[in-house]
Amino acid sequence: MADNAYDVIIIGAGFGGSSCAGLLAKRGLKVLLTDKNANAGGKAMSLKKNGYTYTPWVVIGSPVQDNIYQHMLDELEVADLATLSIPGTQGSFYKSPDGTYSRMPEADTDHLDPEVIFKWLEIPEENQERPLEFFTNMALMEPEDVAKLDGQSFGEWITAAELPRSLYAFIVSLCDGLFMVPVEKLDAAEAITSLQGIFIRGGGVFSEGGFGKVAEAFCEAVRRYGSDVMMGTRVRRVIVEDGKVAGIETDKGEFRAPIVISNAGIQPTVLKLVGEEHFDKDFTKRVQELVPSYSLIGYRYFLSKPVTNASFGVVFSDDGPWSQKRLDEAAEGKGSREGVLYFEVPSNYDPNAAPEGKAMLMTGCFCPPDPNLSKEQLLAWASAGEEVAFGVFPELEAAIESKDFYTTRNVSSATRDSAVAGAGGETIGLAQIVGQCGSTKPSIKAPLEGLFFVGTDAGGVGVGTQQAIDSGMNVADAVEQYHRQR
Ligand SMILES: Cc1cc2nc3c(=O)[nH]c(=O)nc-3n(C[C@H](O)[C@H](O)[C@H](O)COP(=O)(O)OP(=O)(O)OC[C@H]3O[C@@H](n4cnc5c(N)ncnc54)[C@H](O)[C@@H]3O)c2cc1C
Repeated sequence: MADNAYDVIIIGAGFGGSSCAGLLAKRGLKVLLTDKNANAGGKAMSLKKNGYTYTPWVVIGSPVQDNIYQHMLDELEVADLATLSIPGTQGSFYKSPDGTYSRMPEADTDHLDPEVIFKWLEIPEENQERPLEFFTNMALMEPEDVAKLDGQSFGEWITAAELPRSLYAFIVSLCDGLFMVPVEKLDAAEAITSLQGIFIRGGGVFSEGGFGKVAEAFCEAVRRYGSDVMMGTRVRRVIVEDGKVAGIETDKGEFRAPIVISNAGIQPTVLKLVGEEHFDKDFTKRVQELVPSYSLIGYRYFLSKPVTNASFGVVFSDDGPWSQKRLDEAAEGKGSREGVLYFEVPSNYDPNAAPEGKAMLMTGCFCPPDPNLSKEQLLAWASAGEEVAFGVFPELEAAIESKDFYTTRNVSSATRDSAVAGAGGETIGLAQIVGQCGSTKPSIKAPLEGLFFVGTDAGGVGVGTQQAIDSGMNVADAVEQYHRQR
C-alpha cells in the first residue's frame, strides 16, 4: 500500500470520528484520521489559558454508572490517558414564582430521588401520587415500549401526564439542555431513553483536563494500533471517481482510500465536501431540509475565588422551558429571552482546572444556531442568561477577573462549517426531533459507494457526546463488515 493509501479515511476527530477510528484501527484496518483543529474532541475539545484548563463551554456527560466514555477508553486500552471525574455535587436551582432561587437538596444516592425532587419543588404530599407514578412508569418502561414512541412528540407525551407545573418545568428544562430543541418537537423515544439513563444511572461525568482528553485518548489509540492521525489538516474535498469515493484532498495533499467516513456533519459533507452533483436530487433536498439543534451560548468567567461548591446544574423557573412559539417570539425580539440556564464549574471537579485559590464558572443559554447572527442579537440572548447567573450566584459579578463570550460563530469554526443558511453553530448536531430520529434518522451509509457518516447526525442515540460515541461504535461495525466484503 502506498504511503498515502489507506483502507479508511475519517474526516474529523470529534467524539464520533475518533472513537470510530480507534475501533477500526484496533481491528486491523489501516486508518487515517484527519482534523482541521490542533486538538481532538470537536464540540467537546479541551482548551488551556492562563493556568485554566477547560472544555470551551458547558459539557456534562451522562449517565454516570456504566458510562460509554469509560467503556470506550477501556475497549481502546487507553484508560491511562483520560481520568473521568464524577463529582456528584450538582446544584440545580428552581426560581420560584416569587423570584427566589432554591437549590436542589443533596441526596445520598447518585440517581435522582423523586422524593427529594418533590419536596424541593414544593409539591404537597397529597399531590405526589401522580408524579410518582409518572417517574416509576418512565424509569421502568421496557426498551420495546420506548421504541414504540418513536415518531411521537415528547411534549405531547409529558403534557398528557398532567404533572404539577414546577415538575413539568424541571423535566422539560433538563430535556432542553440535553437535546437543545423545543419540547413539542423532541422525539419521545429519544428523550425517554436518555432520561431513564440519567434518573437511574445518574448524570454529571467530566474528564480531568476537560472533556477533550477523552477524544485525545481515542486518537492516541489510533496511533498505538499502528494507524495515522493528522491534526491541523483541513479536508477541502472528498475525491469521487467512477461514482465511488476514492480519497480526500487536503491542504497537505491527497490521500487515497475506498472508504471515507465523515464526522464533519451530514450537510457540510454532502453539500460542500462531496458536492450535490454526486447525489440524486431527492437526497440532496432531504439533506438541505434537515433541522439542526439550537445553540448554547454564554460566558466563561475566570474568578478570583469560588462562588459555589456545585460542579454543574440547571437553573429554571415555571416559565423557563422553551417552546417553538416562545423561541420564535424571542428571536423576533417580541418575547422574553429568559429560559433555562446551564452552568459548569470545572474548578470544582478538577483540582488542576484553575490556579490555586481561583475558580472558573461557565454558563450557557439557548440561541438560534446561525453562526452569522449579529453581535447585538448574540448579546441579547446571552444577557438574558447572564442576568439569571448573577441572580443565582450573588457573589459572581464581583469575583470576575475576566470573561470570554462564546457564540455560535465560535462553535461553528471549531466544529462544522455552515452549509445551509442558519445552521453551523448548533450544539448537538442534527436536531433529535420527530422525523429525524429512530427510523427516520439519516442512514450511516450515504447513497454514494464508500461514503459513511459518523457522529451526532447518524448512527447513534443519546445525549451529545454519548450519542457521538454510540454512533462511532455502530459505524465501526458497519464499515468493518463493508471492508471485509469488498
Ligand atoms: C456549547 C455546547 C455545549 C454542549 N454541551 C453538551 C453536554 O453538556 N453534554 C453532551 O454530551 N454534549 C454536549 N454538547 C454536544 C456535544 O459536544 C456534541 O454533540 C458532540 O461532541 C458532537 O460530536 P461529533 O463527533 O458528532 O462531532 P463534532 O464534535 O462536531 O466534531 C467534528 C470534527 O470534525 C472536524 N471537521 C469538520 N470539518 C472538517 C474538515 N473539512 N476537515 C477536517 N476536519 C473537519 C471538526 O474540526 C471537529 O473536530 C455540547 C456542544 C456545545 C457546542
